[in-house]
Amino acid sequence: MFAVGDTVTLTIDTVRRGAIGKNHSATHLLQEALRQVLGSHVEQAGSLVTPDRLRFDFTHFSAMTKEELAKVEAIVNEQIKSNLPIEMKEMNIEDAKKTGAKALFGEKYGDVVRVVSMGDFSKEFCGGTHVGNTGVISAFKILSESGIAAGVRRIEAITADGVFAYYKNVEDELFAAAKAAKAEPANLLKKIESMQEELKAAHSENEKLKAKLANASLGDVMNNVQEINGVKVLAAKVPEMDMNGIRNLGDSLKEKLGEGVLLLASAFDGKVNLIAMATDGAMAKGAHAGNLIKEVAACVGGGGGGRPNMAQAGGKNPAGIDDAIAKAAEVLKGQIK
Ligand SMILES: [Zn+2]
Repeated sequence: MFAVGDTVTLTIDTVRRGAIGKNHSATHLLQEALRQVLGSHVEQAGSLVTPDRLRFDFTHFSAMTKEELAKVEAIVNEQIKSNLPIEMKEMNIEDAKKTGAKALFGEKYGDVVRVVSMGDFSKEFCGGTHVGNTGVISAFKILSESGIAAGVRRIEAITADGVFAYYKNVEDELFAAAKAAKAEPANLLKKIESMQEELKAAHSENEKLKAKLANASLGDVMNNVQEINGVKVLAAKVPEMDMNGIRNLGDSLKEKLGEGVLLLASAFDGKVNLIAMATDGAMAKGAHAGNLIKEVAACVGGGGGGRPNMAQAGGKNPAGIDDAIAKAAEVLKGQIK
């Protein structure tokens, strides 16, 4: 704490202030570049500058394209390379307006304002902190462009050391990715493409084997077909299969069965997958897949239901599968008249 009459020393954190000066100065270049690329309707709608990055909000009615962003970035970097002197001048507001300097829309200004110009490229009313020359900004990189409100867009960007740190990080990730892919950074893309080809081949091979396996179990399973009151019924336990697999198998077995009712049960991952299907002919005689699966699922500690032609259920107790299969015939005897 200090009081009136005390002698105090004020020190500026020059590193922090310098970083803010670079990021803030870049917002001037950014605003002018946006006006050149998008049009003179672009107005500043807000800005936040920290030592690490800058945020610039502006009026524009659609998302910027990749090309527009690249153009804006190139223009700003061109002005940085041009080493434009940054000059500040305090002047009477009327004189300042005559210079064509851009003012903040809706902002109230006093009689004397400060006009900040960067060569002939940009001229704004501004009270912020700036570097003395655009070359000091070193580099400019846009990180993102997004919408924050109707007609208001936001650009987040970095400058100077922030840009070098950004590319160092990108480089580190590239090297790490190349190492993970057992490739050199220069041929990482080629390596990824060939890995995708391999993966695609393996996937298709896997699908073929799965279909072969399903077909192999198909033959045995058909031995379980029985007839209940004149309707063919296939209630069977099938090898380990997820819900998708058991559904596909059900479809092909149904085709093989022609008309009838199908109940398949599979232990999978310590749980039970159940599926029931009834054809039109079987439904006409009273079969109802949804009601069937509801009663059968109870045997495997599960529940479920569904439509008369198709139903699925899950259960927690694979040990109850045999009971569930036996129960199916019993339930269907009650359904089919
Ligand atoms: Zn400024």
